[in-house]
Amino acid sequence: MIQIEGLHKRFGKLEVLKGIDLQIRKKEVVSIIGPSGSGKSTLLRCMNLLEEVSAGKVMVDGQDLTSTHTDMNKVRTEMGMVFQQFNLFPHKRVIDNIALAPMEVRKWKRDKAEEKAYALLEKVGLREKANSWPSQLSGGQMQRVAIARALAMDPKVMLFDEPTSALDPEMIGEVLAVMKALAKEGMTMVVVTHEMGFAREVCDRVLFMDEGIIEEEGSPEQLFSHPKKERTRSFLGKVL
Ligand code: ADP
Ligand code: MG
Repeated sequence: MIQIEGLHKRFGKLEVLKGIDLQIRKKEVVSIIGPSGSGKSTLLRCMNLLEEVSAGKVMVDGQDLTSTHTDMNKVRTEMGMVFQQFNLFPHKRVIDNIALAPMEVRKWKRDKAEEKAYALLEKVGLREKANSWPSQLSGGQMQRVAIARALAMDPKVMLFDEPTSALDPEMIGEVLAVMKALAKEGMTMVVVTHEMGFAREVCDRVLFMDEGIIEEEGSPEQLFSHPKKERTRSFLGKVL
């Protein structure tokens, strides 16, 4: 589903990604862990070209995102992204937050878009909040709406950048439960997270990033229980 070859990303003189090769299969759930500043967010952002890549190739479902012939806007609609900060539209009700993109981008009629939005709210357990304003929701509820909103475009891939890092501890579980259900349904997912329990339990593969490279990768069991690299061991020693 995602194929990355020789990806480099520079901001001016600062080289943040120093040669990333990565393949993610359909339905695979991959988590990315690593210290702050190691390039995790930048890598995710290169996957849907929120960042322009400096060198290398990023392919999603057979389309080369780095080719000038590719319709970037179309590709972006095929990638759902959920951020640490929920980024809901504050002046729109929950239902409209979710229905907006299908109406504007897909030109769906309001009825059809709302029907889908209700179904997605049901899925994230928030149907009764359809007419609430974002400010009336808890952080965990806002993040579940943000996931529903991303799903409204029927993405081929869901990218999550520390989706629970801004949440109070008691709300983390409800968001992880929604993500776990999505993984079970076969969604292809890439998740930057500090939730080692989630990575261990739900993910097929874990990547450890450090200083702009993938330092080590493996199954959760391999990486958490038998890390090969000293840097991986040292990082895990601090977070586990
Ligand atoms: P992580 O998500 O692993 O914490 P990031 O990908 O956010 O790391 O950042 C990696 C490095 O790139 C950091 O040194 C950060 O300061 C730098 N960086 C990220 N975005 C930009 C930007 N838009 N301009 C300049 N430097 C950036
Ligand atoms: Mg980050």
